Amino acid sequence: MRTIEHWIDGKSTAGVSTTTSAVFNPATGAQSAEVLLGTSIDVDAAVAAATVAFADWGQSSISRRAKVLFSFRELVNARAQELAELITDEHGKVLSDALGEVQRGLEVVEFACGIGQLLKGEFSDQVSADVDSYSYREPLGVVAGITPFNFPAMVPMWMFPIAIATGNTFILKPSERDPSASMMLARLWQEAGLPDGVFNVVHGNADTVNAILDHPGIAAVSFVGSTPIARHIHARATAAGKRVQALGGAKNHAVVMPDAELAFAANHLTAAAFGSAGERCMAISVAVAVGAAADGLIELLGKQANDIKVGSGRGDGIDMGPVVTAEAKVRITSLIDSAQKQGAKICVDGRNLTVTGFESGFFVGPTLLDEVTADMDVYGQEVFGPVLAVMRVETLEEAIAVINANPYGNGTAVFTNSGAAARAFTRGVKVGMIGVNVPVPVPMAYHSFGGWKDSLLGEHHMHGSEGLHFYTRGKVVTSRWPQDALGASFDMPTAR
Ligand code: NAD
Repeated sequence: MRTIEHWIDGKSTAGVSTTTSAVFNPATGAQSAEVLLGTSIDVDAAVAAATVAFADWGQSSISRRAKVLFSFRELVNARAQELAELITDEHGKVLSDALGEVQRGLEVVEFACGIGQLLKGEFSDQVSADVDSYSYREPLGVVAGITPFNFPAMVPMWMFPIAIATGNTFILKPSERDPSASMMLARLWQEAGLPDGVFNVVHGNADTVNAILDHPGIAAVSFVGSTPIARHIHARATAAGKRVQALGGAKNHAVVMPDAELAFAANHLTAAAFGSAGERCMAISVAVAVGAAADGLIELLGKQANDIKVGSGRGDGIDMGPVVTAEAKVRITSLIDSAQKQGAKICVDGRNLTVTGFESGFFVGPTLLDEVTADMDVYGQEVFGPVLAVMRVETLEEAIAVINANPYGNGTAVFTNSGAAARAFTRGVKVGMIGVNVPVPVPMAYHSFGGWKDSLLGEHHMHGSEGLHFYTRGKVVTSRWPQDALGASFDMPTAR
């Protein structure tokens, strides 16, 4: 059995870990590897390496950092297929989708390549007689990222390109379910010329995470995952004096207005609900059909859900792969059971799907539920699987009220041909990322990614200007050259 080790100070190492967690290929259901679970001593070793590396990297020139980023960009781009294959074999998503994930991560690397422009400070000449003022931002030191299973390359790449470009050193604790992509990224950083110790990977579970949260040598923690864990991360790491951004779970609604192009909406909703087996934080899990849109929409969605080709993510012409683990499959199918018991209408049922040749795979077929209400478990919980729930309301105002009553606020979308309805929607919803006739409105790297309410704890979104801000702190220098001939004053300094 292959053992996936940590990556500390530029080397693959077992550290002192003795326990492991099984890694599966979700399409076959077979174990493919075991990953070491790091202890607090392994975290100490990574922090020690990152601290030594920071002394040099934190002082390195902008052009040196930019050169390494450009090389890393080229290497990831050249090896995207290999990286995508690793993702598919441990996550289950189809290869083209895994390639898309690598591409979205690369866009953050490309953003960070412009670090010279991005980090420019401000200068004020002559704020007082012979006195100038300038402000700029410095790196924090050793920072850590804790990431979920559903984007094993992209979500870490929301964090570390900007952290490293701004001069920090980084410790990644990836998901234990699909840890191989992070190891390939570590090797590519080394090939790109990043000094050892600047990028480290410590694998593990809750104990490893807690060692990171408590470690006095780590200045900031970025987290992406489910809301209960995001709360824990935020509370414990802020109590330890760290800067924290913790992105949580989601329940993304798409509103379909009666004036929308129904075929267009159904087509896009199908892809947004069932792409990556619904395991995207921006997946649409609830369609809110307004008035007369409902019956036609359900009919089209049902047809399209039945046409989806489910199979191994490595297969040709496959639209949707398995879910990530056997436990996820049980959780998702139980939520479909509960929806049925609580009165939802099952229009398409994915519970008993078997894929020929992959009988032990963790497959759940596309599932379409109608007449879902807010009191049902399938609505109250994050399903994170290929289940689209349809709710029926009479007006746009009612649809907005449904969205705003939900504790999550990650993404949402509206399908309409009315500019007035779109404007009322975008202004009315308490959600961080909004699509107008765009069902998965993932912001580009130069904007910031983040939700509202229970989808984000802490102040900063990921990447864009918020990422730059998160990984740096400001300094303002007030300077006088040469010395003023006048003497010092005991009064509050004011401009002369
Ligand atoms: P998760 O919360 O179970 O795990 C995320 C990370 O936390 C992993 O590295 C895991 O090892 C660690 N972890 C798990 N339990 C822990 C504990 N008790 N204490 C400390 N650390 C712990 O999430 P997941 O199942 O890997 O990913 C799916 C979740 O991530 C969904 O809720 C999804 O909505 C969310 N997500 C959100 C975004 C976003 O941008 N808001 C993006 C991607 C995924």
